[in-house]
Amino acid sequence: MIAMMEEPLSEDLCWTAVLTRDRAFDGRFVTGVLSTGIYCRPSCAARHPLRANVRFFADGTAARTEGLRPCKRCLPDDVSRDEKAVLAAITAIKASEEPLALAGLAADAGYSVSHFQRLFKRMTGLSPAAYSRALRLERASAALTAGERVTNALYDAGFSAPSRFYAASEGRMGMTPSAWASGGKGVTIRWAVVATTLGEMLVAATDKGVCRLSFNEGSEDLRARFPHADLAPGDAPFAELLGQVIAAVESPGDASHIPLDVKGTAFQEAVWRELRRIPKGETRSYAQIAAAVGKPGAVRAAGSANGANNVAVLIPCHRVIRTDGSLGGYAYGLEIKQRLLEREGGS
Ligand SMILES: [Zn+2]
Repeated sequence: MIAMMEEPLSEDLCWTAVLTRDRAFDGRFVTGVLSTGIYCRPSCAARHPLRANVRFFADGTAARTEGLRPCKRCLPDDVSRDEKAVLAAITAIKASEEPLALAGLAADAGYSVSHFQRLFKRMTGLSPAAYSRALRLERASAALTAGERVTNALYDAGFSAPSRFYAASEGRMGMTPSAWASGGKGVTIRWAVVATTLGEMLVAATDKGVCRLSFNEGSEDLRARFPHADLAPGDAPFAELLGQVIAAVESPGDASHIPLDVKGTAFQEAVWRELRRIPKGETRSYAQIAAAVGKPGAVRAAGSANGANNVAVLIPCHRVIRTDGSLGGYAYGLEIKQRLLEREGGS
């Protein structure tokens, strides 16, 4: 175990992060390779060392104390510099009334524009411009149900740090089947309804990720869907997640960094995974989705799985249309589907 400021990381978790080259762990520990005398960030692109040769250190300082040298390829000591630069940019964006030019932010950080843009996006999930837009939009809109506290928390805690609360479960689909099967028994679901340009949006999440995103629904709908769950107002980690969700909905882009906690049948989950692979600005037909999950005859079932999606937008079921090019259906009305596709640059 490595003692860190945040929750302790187990060696197993560290090693998994190394094997998956998970950038969310960069800056949380470094990987010392005793056979080469080098230490790396978890996401280093170099070939993986043998597990037996690896020792994990809290940071570069600790690794250097043991006589290891920083890897020239992944520059592990630059992580904290990167984080400081992005946090400084976030502070500047928040403090400014006017949108700040990317060139200026990059120059302040001492990075090239393209490098800084990449860093910023990696840490926050958004480009600086999209981040500013989301911030302005959220400031202009009111948090309707969960109240002022969620909105405040979003800026006090939410956007001010890289996304780490949910990093460990990133990309995960599913909570223990028994919990979902019994209507969310023993599960705390935090939720809020916020105003968006598409109408009132309900966002609900377990501690593993978003379990419901819908439009024009309220607490009674959530209660009906998860009758035994403990419904609670948002806390700081939820506010951070909510900020990312709002940004992903308002300025569509890659939402794959947002963790989901959904559970369906094996077929439904295969369809949902396939939906997440449809690039922004593109659409697929129900028949194409059925074929993509290896069941070309199951067009109708693919349509049903599409409709059973609990997490609108983030699992982009709106990107599935009829083979003839007509919109097909949408749980929250065709107007929202049409507008989502339009803003993504699709049909
Ligand atoms: Zn390296």
